[in-house]
Amino acid sequence: MKTISKTIIIYFFLLSILNANDKVILQLKWFHQFQFAGYYMAKEKGFYQDVGLDVIIRQRESDKNNIKQVISGEANYGISDSILMLYKAKGEPVVVIAPIFQHSPSVLMTLKQSGIDTPYKLNNKKMVFYEDDTDGFSILAMLKKLNINPIFIRKRGKGDYLKLINKEVEASPAYLSNEPYYLKKKGLEFNIINPAHYGFDLYGDILFTSENEIKNYPFRTKKFKEASLKGWEYALDNIEETIELIYKKYSKNKSKEHLRHEANALKDMIVKNSVPLGTLDKGRVQYIYNMYRSLGLINKDLDFENFIFDEFQDKHKIILTKKDKKYLDENRVLKYCIDPSWMPFEGINKNKHTGITADFIKIFKEKLPNNKIVLHKTNTWTESLDSIRKKQCDFIPLLYHSKQREEYIFFTKDYIKASLVIATKLNEPFINDFSKIIKKKIALSKNYAYINVIKDKYPNLNIVEVDNIKQGLLKVKNEEVFAFLGLLPSVAYHIQKEFFGELKITGKLNEEVPLSLGINKESKQLSLIFEKVLNSISKEELEQILNSWLLVKYQDSIDYKTIFLTIVVFTIIICLILYKNMTFKKLNKKLNAYLNIIDKNVLTTTTDKMGNITYVSEAFCNLSQYSKDELIGKKYSLVKHEGMKEELFKKIQKTINSGEIWKGELKNRKKNGDCYWVFATISPLFNSKGEIIGYTSIREDITDKKRIEEISIKDGLTNIYNRRFFNDTFFKFVNSCKRSGELFAFIILDIDYFKQYNDNYGHQKGDEVLINLAKYLDNNLKRSSDYCFRLGGEEFGVLFSTKSKEKAIKFTNKLCKGIENLAIKHEHSNASSYITASFGICCVEPSCINSINEIYKKADEKLYEAKAQGRNRVVF
Ligand code: GH3
Ligand code: MG
Ligand code: MG
Repeated sequence: MKTISKTIIIYFFLLSILNANDKVILQLKWFHQFQFAGYYMAKEKGFYQDVGLDVIIRQRESDKNNIKQVISGEANYGISDSILMLYKAKGEPVVVIAPIFQHSPSVLMTLKQSGIDTPYKLNNKKMVFYEDDTDGFSILAMLKKLNINPIFIRKRGKGDYLKLINKEVEASPAYLSNEPYYLKKKGLEFNIINPAHYGFDLYGDILFTSENEIKNYPFRTKKFKEASLKGWEYALDNIEETIELIYKKYSKNKSKEHLRHEANALKDMIVKNSVPLGTLDKGRVQYIYNMYRSLGLINKDLDFENFIFDEFQDKHKIILTKKDKKYLDENRVLKYCIDPSWMPFEGINKNKHTGITADFIKIFKEKLPNNKIVLHKTNTWTESLDSIRKKQCDFIPLLYHSKQREEYIFFTKDYIKASLVIATKLNEPFINDFSKIIKKKIALSKNYAYINVIKDKYPNLNIVEVDNIKQGLLKVKNEEVFAFLGLLPSVAYHIQKEFFGELKITGKLNEEVPLSLGINKESKQLSLIFEKVLNSISKEELEQILNSWLLVKYQDSIDYKTIFLTIVVFTIIICLILYKNMTFKKLNKKLNAYLNIIDKNVLTTTTDKMGNITYVSEAFCNLSQYSKDELIGKKYSLVKHEGMKEELFKKIQKTINSGEIWKGELKNRKKNGDCYWVFATISPLFNSKGEIIGYTSIREDITDKKRIEEISIKDGLTNIYNRRFFNDTFFKFVNSCKRSGELFAFIILDIDYFKQYNDNYGHQKGDEVLINLAKYLDNNLKRSSDYCFRLGGEEFGVLFSTKSKEKAIKFTNKLCKGIENLAIKHEHSNASSYITASFGICCVEPSCINSINEIYKKADEKLYEAKAQGRNRVVF
């Protein structure tokens, strides 16, 4: 029999984060044109994608301050110019990532015939200018410094060069890459007065971000910077290709010829050949700053702190006190011990420390560059504990914080948490109630301190202590014990390496074991230092390390559909053979035997038209735990799981009543309350007149498959679908909308001020909010075809179909109100005194949908608008 094997990859941690590209928004300072060529190319050529970023490039919204959009987090990255220094001086948390234009294209333009070719001739001349002093700064600085006083007309518009042509004014600001082109086109001659030529040479476009972004996502920022610069290199080396792309995909506002002109002008501003792309010169920053200062715009010294991304990174290494430094000076060599057999946390491979803690040690080394951090080798974990007790080593990078150990160890905060899981042989059903297995023998590794916690918590547990996890799992395999209880990462690691296809993770306890770094009691100072070191590791770094070690693969080698098909085909063949070769009597006997086999092995039932059970197979009785007597004559709904949606049963009714066969997955309940899943084929039964007299149903038990599936498509915290499932379902859903002729609708919602909630009520409470909100969403989706997802963090998505846009908006508003009406207190929200969320909807004809990204982007943009408009609302 051929079985098709199928691999399901399960990510245990951070399911959604791992799966999807990191979505970020780049806010441009103007409309799509060559000025932003590098970013388009980074996106087009996949440079962003290569580093796991999905970048939305958003053009300027003219009624918004593009710098503030980045500060507020409405966008992650932005483009500005030297004005950024003014924002910094005013205390705004902006951070320069990289200047792209070494020089500013901002100049003054006059008509040649006016004879005005130097700034000195501008006294008392009419000149259009920006409304406030934040734009065109180098021009202003030049005029002020040279003590020239034109007559300013403070109203700047797109077509100001026309005022110049019409002689309404004598000078106008311009971008070298832009206005000169229009004049050239009209055959007019003009002068350019460039502040750079008078000593006012500023940076032009600068890529920047907010302190928040950098603190939370230093790696992401680094990757964004590198991919963007790569995009710029490419764009400048392939100008024609870039122009084509901009014209085709972004904007037709400028002709290709104009874009070409722009590209050439900007090349001179970027000067890639003389200054490497993205170079930032601190001296120049100081110089520009002094310029602001001499003009009285700033009255403080430049505080470089946190202003330049590369330095910001250095700064955030750690701030050591004198005492810390003294300690580190006097103890140049820091020795640590590990558990030599505790993979994937740590282990020794080819005489070298490997595993999660080895990656942390690498970070420690970077953060404490003047010290040598060396492994003090031991053969066992007990020996390691002895070593720290005897002060032969200074610290242990990861261990459980137990009271007993406090005698000789200082513990830092816990920086990793691991779930406790149960591993059994493959054929065991999933365990959701731990109390059920309490009487069975369960192996645990001795020596590990959490064993005491478990003993305290489950005093009746029948524990068998084993030397190590491998021995424990081996005992499970040999059926000496029923299960092994251990930390998820280690159990998963060993199953994958040594017990693949023999053991599986069958259940998860609610407990999480917190793990800390331990320092020997003599070295109080070192514990303070390590506390700082751990605090300086970003969440992102931590996740990256864990992800790289915690990816677990599962093999599900049984394909149920294939088995089912094989049974059917087999049956037909047997019947044909029987029919051809046997006498009727023989046939009857054989048939009876055969029916017997079916009764024992095939999960089948028959009902009458009203749904009363008229026949059940023995196999079905065994599975459902009811006897034949208990089932026959009862309604079929007795075995149904109440969680299945009514809508689905209506659909089944409709299909079979029209004489067709229905196939699909159903969730049922056993007599004892446990649930199980079947793949059912339900067909109508006809009498000789062709009327339907009942239904027959054949099923296979697919419970195990569903459990594995559920782990991989459901979010661990909220138990609704995850981002992976969203991606997988999206087009199926689009197609179902097409079939039903309804509109496709997608909502993204994001909890308002959730950070404040966590900060004030704690993460645990925060998690409860997420769970309740998910429950609320799930309960409010009535139709089986509608889905809700946790897209990541505190962001949820809903896919539903609708008859009209109005209905979709009404429904979304109802959800929005409903969340507030849950009345979960949030006293630190500016939007309400309860937890609320902001919603973006995208509702379109299903036939117009080309990509997930496009729809996601649309809804997400609306969400951002909802946030910007004050939150707790729906934007359509
Ligand atoms: P806004 O109204 O702009 O959405 O503000 P916000 O504070 O909700 O937004 P921000 O994106 O700055 O912060 C989201 C927070 O959500 C940060 C993080 O602490 C929290 N969060 C994300 N995932 C989880 C989680 O699984 N559990 C808990 N408790 N908090 C989470
Ligand atoms: Mg969010
Ligand atoms: Mg939020």
